[in-house]
Parts: sequence; C-alpha cells; structure tokens
Amino acid sequence: MKILYRSTRGKTKETVSASSAILQGLSPDGGLYVPTSIPKITFPLDDLPNFSYQELAYQILKLFFSDFTETELRSCITKAYGKNFDTPKIAPMSYYEGLGFLELFHGPTIAFKDVALQLLPHLMSVAASKKSEKKETVILTATSGDTGKAALAGFANVPHTKIIVFYPKHGVSFIQERQMLTQQGKNTFIFGVDGNFDDAQTRVKKIFNDTLLENDLAKNGYRFSSANSINIGRLFPQVVYYFYAYSQLLKDHKIKPYEKVNFSVPTGNFGNILAGYYAKKMGLPVNKLLCASNKNNVLTKFFNTGLYDRKRPFYVTSSPSMDILISSNLERLLFYLTKEDPQKTSTFMKQLEEEGNYTITSQMRSQLKSFYANFASEDKTAAEIDRFFSKDKIALDPHTAVASYVARSFQDTTEDEHFTIVVSTASPYKFAQAVLVGLHDPNAFIPGLEAVTALQGKIHIPLPPTISRLFDSPIRAKKEIKPHEMERTVKKVLGLN
Ligand SMILES: *Cc1c(COP(=O)(O)O)cnc(C)c1O
Repeated sequence: MKILYRSTRGKTKETVSASSAILQGLSPDGGLYVPTSIPKITFPLDDLPNFSYQELAYQILKLFFSDFTETELRSCITKAYGKNFDTPKIAPMSYYEGLGFLELFHGPTIAFKDVALQLLPHLMSVAASKKSEKKETVILTATSGDTGKAALAGFANVPHTKIIVFYPKHGVSFIQERQMLTQQGKNTFIFGVDGNFDDAQTRVKKIFNDTLLENDLAKNGYRFSSANSINIGRLFPQVVYYFYAYSQLLKDHKIKPYEKVNFSVPTGNFGNILAGYYAKKMGLPVNKLLCASNKNNVLTKFFNTGLYDRKRPFYVTSSPSMDILISSNLERLLFYLTKEDPQKTSTFMKQLEEEGNYTITSQMRSQLKSFYANFASEDKTAAEIDRFFSKDKIALDPHTAVASYVARSFQDTTEDEHFTIVVSTASPYKFAQAVLVGLHDPNAFIPGLEAVTALQGKIHIPLPPTISRLFDSPIRAKKEIKPHEMERTVKKVLGLN
C-alpha cells in the first residue's frame, strides 16, 4: 500500500504525497504531517547485518517516500552518505561499561543532525523536480544551535534554494555560533535573535502560517519550507540508524536476533526519539525508549504525570540543543495517543498555545509504557563526563552524558537487563567548554577556541577538520535582531516589501 501523508490537525481526510509533505514542511493547517499508516519492515531482522548503511537507508526510506523512484531515492542516499562522513559506517557503535554508544557525530558538523540534513536537500531537490511549477525553495529554520549549522552545511549552494537561520543569540555555544558564522554560500543568511529558542521557533511557525505572506511569496516565485525536525524528510532518515544500531549489535554478538533493546535518547524537540518510536512500530525489537532531558525537564514531567506545562523557567544549560520548553514533535506522539484523532490533537495544541499547558487522559497515558523518562541536572551531567573520562578515558559531550546518566539511573532503579544503547549526538569538541567543566579543568573558563585546544591536549582525540577550519576561516559580521523583526527580516532577504 502506498503511504500518503495527512495532518495531525486535519479536519478533512485530505492527503498529500511524500514529496509534497517534504516541500511544505508544515501542513497549511499548522499540524505536522504523519503517514496514513506506519509501514512494517519488509525484510527479516536476521538479514540486517548484511545491509550497508546506505542499503538499509534505502530499505527503510522507500517505505515512507513512496512517490520517489528507486533511482531517485538511491541517488539521494548515495550523495548524502559518502565521503562527507568520516567513516564508511556512517553511524558506528562503541561499547563502554556494558552500554552501547551509537555515534551519530561523524558527519560534517560533528553532530547527529547531519544524518538527516545531509539527505534532506537532495530529497527536496527531487521533490521539487516532480512539481510542474518552478519555485525557489526558501528554508526557514529556528535553531537551538546544531540544526543551524547542519542545515547551512546541507543547503549551501544547492541550486534553487535559499536558507535563513535564526538562533537565540545567547543560547548557543561559542563553537556553534562560530560554525554558523564561518558558513560559506551566497544562498545562506544567519541572524541572532534576542530571545530564547522557543521565541524564535514560535515566530518561525507564525511566518509559516501567514497566508498573506505566502501569497506574496508565491507571486515572487518562492515557496517556504522547513528544515526543522518537523519535516518528514528529516524525521524518517533518523529511523534508519535505530535499525543500524541493532544490526551492529547482532554483528558484534551483543544480542541475539529478536532480542529487545533499550535506547536512551538525549531529547529536545522530540525528533530523534520519535524516530525510535517509529522504528519500534515498524518492527524493531525495542523494550523501552528512555527520554533523557536536562534541567529543562518538561518532558520528564509529561511522561511521569501526563501534564505538559511550558509555563516554567527556561534554563540555559551545558547541553543547549536540549534547552527547549516546547517539543514540536511531541504533537505526533499525541496524535497516536488519541488513536489518530486530529480533533483531539488540535484541542491539546490549542490549549498549549493559549493556556501554556494540557493534561492527557489516563487512557492516553496507559499507552506510554514503552517510554521511560528522567533528567540529569547540571551537576549530574558534569559528574557523568568526569566519571567516564576517569574510568574509560573517553570524553562524552554533555548531551550524550545526559543520556548515559539517564540510562544508568534507569538500570539502577528498575534492574532492567535489556541491552541499552546510548544515542551519542555530538562530538565532545563541539561543546569543549562544558566538557572541560566536567573534567574540572582550569581552562574551562578561558574563552572560545582556546578551550578546544585545551580539550585536545587532554583527551587525545584528533581534532575533526570541521573544527580546525574554525581557526582560520573568514567570519561573517554578526547580525542581531529582535524576535518581532523576524518577519520583516525574511522579507528583506527575499527582496519583498
Ligand atoms: C538536536 C540535538 C538533540 C535533541 O534532539 P531532538 O531531536 O531535538 O530531540 C540532542 N543532542 C544534540 C547534540 C542535538 O544537536
């Protein structure tokens, strides 16, 4: 059966093709696109170890992107997962202290968002070629740090695209900001916003929902799209590495075929872990998905009480890519918890927007048994980095440390014995200062790139080229704006008035 897409808030049963959903990003009614049904994998699990990452990507993604031909999809995959990653495995596993670490930081920006964002521009370009109207695609992205650089790297100089990135000017690390400000490409535009990530994301959503502006754009030959993890072109490529992790565990004789495993996922916008949920629904033997949060633990509360409440203080932490109070992709989970009821899903989302919170029913809560949720405070995160370094001489980035702390506390409190995989989302070099804090290094308080050098001296992992380039690439002038100036800024970039 061919899979189509409908909106989590769709009042009609209207559906669109995968390529339309990829080009639009968000549904016109403000909802997120979900597949009309969740496909099951078409190969036996025992076959997994025979697949390369690229072959596995094809086997999974052909089920979701059903209006792409085999040639189109394979060509996108080949372009996305090649020499731009520093290992042919793309997402290798390592093992410490009885845990598996799925390393998703071997792409050009040394963080997990590369896995999806190296593919998305190619998917969009094929999707656009299927439409008769020739429009330039404008990617609009609010980023808590990593998405920005990864999207810029993916879209830079891709023909018929422009990319505009907004980041919270005090909410990203020095390295993240420098990575963005050294981005090349005439079609790339970057702005620091005087607010937090949610301020920027809310505005971007408003711009997407502005039909007047949309008409104006259409007249001028533009179409907005999103590179955020709400786009199905980002979400589903993330399903692949859950299966790939399992295949490596089989190869490495850590588990037997069909044995269930846990994944601990450092969570912000709920995209990564949602991909794990889809993998489970497709037939991957998953016991629990551990939703790991930092001090902004709005999701921990949600899973443990049923109350989602964004009216709480916002903290800037050592794991900034998880500093989020509104996890956009959670809407898709709500949709499934309501038994795919767009009316009910809309009501919850409306309540979140107007009152700042909602509580799910006990019937909905009873369907959350495959999740466990916990968080790591800043102290626990730093202690986890220190502990791993002293014991195993490996340096965890703070996001990964949050997930490994949550994995261990899950094992300690539940005595669960399933093999547990910590999803490692960034290289320690990307968050050098936070890692040095964890390691009690006196250099933790020296600014910027010197922290990277200090960390290198300590952990003896070669500096990835993407980081060494930051030392000598030209830097763009910083452009800073207020949240209410975002729409005007977009118009200016596109030459509209
Ligand atoms: C984006 C990001 C996360 C959070 O992933 P979500 O899909 O937003 O939940 C975690 N760690 C790192 C390093 C990230 O860049």
